[in-house]
Order: sequence, then C-alpha cells, then structure tokens
Amino acid sequence: MSEKILIGVAWPYANGSLHLGQIAGAYLPADIFARYHRIKGNEVVMVSGSDQHGTPITIKAEQEGKKPAEIADKYYREFLDSWQRLGISFDLFTTTGTANHASVAQDIFLTLLKKDYIYKSSMSQPYCPRCQRFLPDRYIEGTCPYCHSPGARGDQCDACGQPINAAELIEPLCRICGASPEIKDTEHFFLKLSAFQDRLSDWAERQNHWRPNVYSLTRRYLKEGLRDRAITRDLEWGVPVPVDGFEHKSIYVWFEAVIGYLSATREWAKSTGDEEKWRSFWQDKEAKSYYFIGKDNIPFHTLIWPAMLMGYGDLNLPYDVPANEFLTIEGRKLSTSRNWAVWLPDYLSRYDPDSLRYLLSINMPETGDTDFSWREFVRRNNDELVATYGNLVHRVLTFTYRNFDGSVPSAGELDSQSQALLKKAEETLNTVDGFLYRCHFREAIRSAMSLAQEGNRYLDDKSPWKAIKEDSQAAATSLYVTLGIISSLKTILYPFLPFSSQRLHEFLGFKGSVEKNGWQIQLPPAGQRLLEPQPLFTKLDEKLVEEESSRLGQ
Ligand SMILES: [Zn+2]
Ligand SMILES: [Zn+2]
Repeated sequence: MSEKILIGVAWPYANGSLHLGQIAGAYLPADIFARYHRIKGNEVVMVSGSDQHGTPITIKAEQEGKKPAEIADKYYREFLDSWQRLGISFDLFTTTGTANHASVAQDIFLTLLKKDYIYKSSMSQPYCPRCQRFLPDRYIEGTCPYCHSPGARGDQCDACGQPINAAELIEPLCRICGASPEIKDTEHFFLKLSAFQDRLSDWAERQNHWRPNVYSLTRRYLKEGLRDRAITRDLEWGVPVPVDGFEHKSIYVWFEAVIGYLSATREWAKSTGDEEKWRSFWQDKEAKSYYFIGKDNIPFHTLIWPAMLMGYGDLNLPYDVPANEFLTIEGRKLSTSRNWAVWLPDYLSRYDPDSLRYLLSINMPETGDTDFSWREFVRRNNDELVATYGNLVHRVLTFTYRNFDGSVPSAGELDSQSQALLKKAEETLNTVDGFLYRCHFREAIRSAMSLAQEGNRYLDDKSPWKAIKEDSQAAATSLYVTLGIISSLKTILYPFLPFSSQRLHEFLGFKGSVEKNGWQIQLPPAGQRLLEPQPLFTKLDEKLVEEESSRLGQ
C-alpha cells in the first residue's frame, strides 16, 4: 500500500540569497525525506515557494532603489537555480505572488470571517509623524520587552526568538527616519486564536511523535494562553484584503504565507492535468503532511496554521513538524546582516553539492544547534566521503574493470564472512528505513556509513589483488560481494547523496534512475557490463579553509 506524503517546506523571503543555515534547517531534511518516500514507492508532493510579500522585500527594494517585484523576481530565479544545483527536488516551488495564491488566501480569509473566526477591531499602531505613515513591524526597532536585547524588530526578537507586538517594544524608533513614533488607532482584522485554545490543546497533547523541542514549545505557548492576532496591516505590498474600505491595507504575510502550502499544492495539481488531485493530499484522512521549518517558525506551524485549518474545516492538520535547531558558523551565531554566513550560490560555484549534503546530514541540527566550519567540511569530505565511501567504490570498480573484462564476475560459494556482510547490507537498509521514516536523519546516514566501513574491512581481509594470483575464483567472489555492497550503498545513500548515487548506479552498469529501482538491495548480476570507473568524490585542498574563512564577516 503506497502512502500519500505532503511535504511543506518553509517559504524563504525573496530578499536575499539562501545560506547554509536555511539548508540545514529545512531544505535538506525535506529533500532527504521526499527522496526517501519516492524511492519507497510512496506518492509525494513537496511544495514551497518564495515569500515575496511583507516588509523584508519592501525594505530591500527601498535600499536598492528598485520595485519590490523586481527584487522578488530576481531572488525567485536564483532560488530555482540553487535548488536545481543542490538537488532539492521540489514538485513545485512557486511564489506568493501568483493569482492562484491570492485567491486561495482570500477564500480562507473570507470563510474564517463568515464563521466569526476573524473579526474587525481597532488597534493602536506606531505612526511616524515625520514620514506620515503607519509603521509596519519591521520598520520599527527597539529593545525587546522579554529579554531586553537592543535591536529587536517590531515582529520578533532575534535574540530570544519571541514573537512581539510592535506596541510592546521599549524605546521604539522609525527605521526610515529615526524619529520616535506616536501611537495612533487604525482598523484591522484579527484572527480569533483564543477560540481554538481548547481544540488545539487537545490536539497538540496527542502528538507524542513530535520532536521534544517542538512538542514542549507548543505546549508552553498553549499554557501561556493564545492571544488573538492582527492579520491585516497598513502596507500595500501584499495580498489585498478582500473587504471594502481596506484598499490600502494587505493581509499580513505570516497569515498568507502558510496558506501557500495549500495554494501551491493546488497549483501543482493543475500542472499535472488533474486539478482535483490536491484533495488526496489534503482531504484524504490517510494522507500525512510534514512541515520542515527552522525552530523560529514552530508556533506558526503547530498553532496558528492548525487553527486556520480547523476553522476552515475539511483539511488535514499537520502530522509532523520536524523543526530543526540552528546551524552556527565557525562557532558563532549566523548573521546575514554581518555577512557571518556561507551563501549557497557561492558554495555551489566552487564545490560538489553532495559534499555539502553529506556534511549537513551527518551534522544536522536535529536535537540541538550544530556548527559548520570549513575545517570540518574538508576533514569530513576527505576522511569520510573520499577515504571511506569513495575509496571503497573506486578500489572495487577499478580492480574489477581491469581484471574481469569490464564485467561483474560470477561468484563461487559464499563463505560465512561474505554471507554476513550481505546480511549486514540488508539490515542496514532496514535500520536506515526506520530512522528516515521517523525523520532521524543523522542516525540514518551514520548507520549507512558504517556499512561502507565494513565493506572496506572485508575488502582488506579478502585482498582480491593478492588472491587473484593464486585463486581467481576467490577474488571473483569477494569482488562480487563488494560490488553488492556498493550497490546497496548507492540505494541507502540516495536520499542524502543523489548525484553520486546516480553516478555509481551507472558505473555498476544499471540503466535508468536509482529511484525507479526502489528501496531494495540490488546485487549487480554476473556478466553485467560496468562503465569505465571515475572517482566518485574529489579530495579537497586544506588551503581552502583559510581562503573561505577569510570571507566570513567581510
Ligand atoms: Zn528578546
Ligand atoms: Zn519616519
């Protein structure tokens, strides 16, 4: 029975390049999960898009003297290119700027309004007397009322992660002109989150399969009590509020961006020629939805989006929200404004995508923050990817190719060591399966790598390069077994290392894609022609550590 898996991934703001923190936090785990379910034969739809509304875009546009749409479009195209080069296999990566998205978002808005889950009220908002405008959250800076850090924005404090109402900021200042804002009344719509307190508590309580950080943070918010939140704002750049008298206001970006998961699935369905296909991922009770996001986004996906879905009705609630912790860079908190970040397009212009996928998988910030350093990048690439996995593959392929006429040799009788190793491959496939099913990515790849280590030990023990002189059948048998091991590794590692897995699949003489072969141990049959082998990975020069580190913070 194939499963239906909807994978929603965080919507990046289209105001700057992607960086490794976002990749480790959401995009890579989502892609591993999608590839795993696809190779298992399950039905997957993985969607996201660039978030092109809100003040992050208007601020960037003002800084560069461009229109918000130009900024949004430039980064949207860059994101598509990055996904392709890193192998992030979206079924659809769209934007919040489509007519489809606006109409789905407005439908949800109007339905919740009709059901009294949205109401109109006036609120006090900061107004800059010098600029003569209401100031959206991100146009105000001040001191955080929770942790007292300076430089907190009007929507969130980066230091403590707490969402903030702009009016709560201590000593607020206008970001455009530096004046002190006045407080003025303005009319807005509010989401009645308080109406969902009991239903959300009952529901969240039962989600024992959530990661401990996600589960406990969600329960903490519920315990503090949910407050109604404004969902419209005084800003024209956004999805229009579909109500008369609100022509100069728009729907708040956090409210409409989460709706993107639904609108993107509908857009994807249309593109497949079966417009109604989205229903099987959103309305079929057996379908599961997973949301891959960074930890700063947890309450939006475990409380606010579920409340909106409950209010609208007849749409599946999230099954899991495997939010990751943060990636630090060279031991320090990542900061895009201080350029303390590794930018994805820069990385991809210089290095192999699978090397990064490997490092970020084996060091994924699943249960706590982890650190990226260039020294570790080189070490893991050279000592693990090249020396353990790549070397095993290269030794067995080149030796077989040269000595057995470019074909898979026939095995003689398998001794107990050979049988044990093939059994270990089968066990690793099952172990990794279990880990991936539960979104334990780090443990999954570690267990796969231990099979590569066992393969190396076996090959050293059997030493076919010595055996071939006295007993060519013994050499043939050990090569046949080791070819089986590397063939197993290409399948087991496929969700993590799709590019090298596909190359290895072809070196082993298989046709088509690894994914089509399914999640199974596939021993190359005797007589199958091999392709002339090339190294799977490249050793990196230690010198790059200094070069790359010197770019940080510049
Ligand atoms: Zn704070
Ligand atoms: Zn001002």
